[in-house]
Amino acid sequence: MAGTKALLMLENFIDGKFLPCNSYIDSYDPSTGEVYCKVPNSGEEEIQAAVEAARKAFPGWSSQSPQERSRVLHQVADVLEQSLEELAQAESKDQGKTLALARTMDIPRSVQNFRFFASSILHHTSECTQMDHLGCLHYTVQTPVGIAGLISPWNLPLYLLTWKIAPAIAVGNTVIAKPSEMTSVTAWMLCKLLDKAGVPPGVVNIVFGTGPRVGEALVSHPEVPLISFTGSQSTATRITQLSAPHCKKLSLELGGKNPAIIFEDANLEECIPTTVRSSFANQGEICLCTSRIFVQKSIYSEFLKRFVEATRKWKVGIPSDPLASMGALISKAHLEKVRNYIKKALAEGAHIQCGEGVDKLSLPARNQAGYFMLPTVITDIKDESCCMKEEIFGPVTCVVPFDSEEEVIRRANDVKYGLAATVWSSNVGRIHRVAKKLQSGLVWTNCWLIRELNLPFGGMKSSGIGREGVKDSYDFFTEIKTITVKY
Ligand code: NAD
Repeated sequence: MAGTKALLMLENFIDGKFLPCNSYIDSYDPSTGEVYCKVPNSGEEEIQAAVEAARKAFPGWSSQSPQERSRVLHQVADVLEQSLEELAQAESKDQGKTLALARTMDIPRSVQNFRFFASSILHHTSECTQMDHLGCLHYTVQTPVGIAGLISPWNLPLYLLTWKIAPAIAVGNTVIAKPSEMTSVTAWMLCKLLDKAGVPPGVVNIVFGTGPRVGEALVSHPEVPLISFTGSQSTATRITQLSAPHCKKLSLELGGKNPAIIFEDANLEECIPTTVRSSFANQGEICLCTSRIFVQKSIYSEFLKRFVEATRKWKVGIPSDPLASMGALISKAHLEKVRNYIKKALAEGAHIQCGEGVDKLSLPARNQAGYFMLPTVITDIKDESCCMKEEIFGPVTCVVPFDSEEEVIRRANDVKYGLAATVWSSNVGRIHRVAKKLQSGLVWTNCWLIRELNLPFGGMKSSGIGREGVKDSYDFFTEIKTITVKY
């Protein structure tokens, strides 16, 4: 048909080759609501082929020196960096995020993931201890686990996928990765670059498709002893059930209901713009985004006024708009889910200070069917409300007052999640006290999302099991053995 653009057709990447699939699923451009890409709808057959490729590649790859693997990982980082603009354009189109964010966060961090593990792999030492009275020396050795199964979500597609691939292959595993079916394009582009960087065939296999079909085939395969998963708690439960008969090693990075605690002595000049960013960056679709803001009563009115003003300036626009701070949400279904939370809050008597239903969103004609919404601030909401308890994973945040330190710690901890928190105060003693008592794997004080990749990343309670980061990833992707020698 005249004017119809050809759809982008993705293929699986198995044993270093691009292979078509028997069936495909639609992938949408979130900024227009149009289908623009076809993603392989893989299943057991493709997983079996990937397992065979990964099994065949394992002896060669795992017996390479760390220096050689490091060299290859550096090459992957270099070719990714050379393609930064192309990858950023693709990520923004596929996910709906602003091009500016893809350029400055997603793709640079993907490059850094490879560079970081390329370097850290060279600096591991094993432990050794002696028992002179028994004439014994004990030491540890770590060996790759084998074939690693990696499953990633749609919010930070290449960023989170490479955060798993890089450590897994750095320590000598071969991998089968399954990105989200909603955002598969940059993973497919990565396959071409892996080849260019000299990653041997079968070391990284990427198989596309839905969770229930190809995801479950991967998790259930008896020759895949390890699953590293980032996504929702309900999927993690299913993965845990499927892995149980095989006693698989699991790393689960899940959702959050992250509090920001703002004391009366906080520096609001810094706190307000950072809390707007922590609430609405990437459309609020980051597991670390703030969704409950507790503000000490004495500054509540002032904070709310200034926070709402700043939120109104957080522009929603098409992803390529250089002035936009926020693009489109991932899907129609997700947009509806997020809007439903706002409806429920209103039905409970809460107030919407700005955003959905209050302000007007203006978009170009061709983006009217895109999945856009304004950043939304809810007040006068009870702690028991689903908006204060459940992960919304969209541009919605609740602002509530508190009186005392003790009270706010109790309320902040009163959710099933425990991923990330922020604390704002100029009292150093209070910062340490509160940070220590929060049930949260990560606490940022007077800042947000400053990452040190050497240190553990992950959540407690329903936010997950295990940590990622240099030592944690190394331990997770290897088996550790203690050897005792009697002399
Ligand atoms: P999701 O659980 O729906 O999907 C994640 C991945 O799992 C996708 O690749 C999906 O296809 C796959 N999957 C779905 N069902 C499966 C099954 N039965 N078996 C195997 N695989 C299956 O999550 P999502 O909606 O893509 O991502 C959003 C969630 O991810 C949010 O809860 C968010 O907080 C969480 N998240 C956590 C972190 C973290 O580091 N803690 C980071 C980003 C996102």
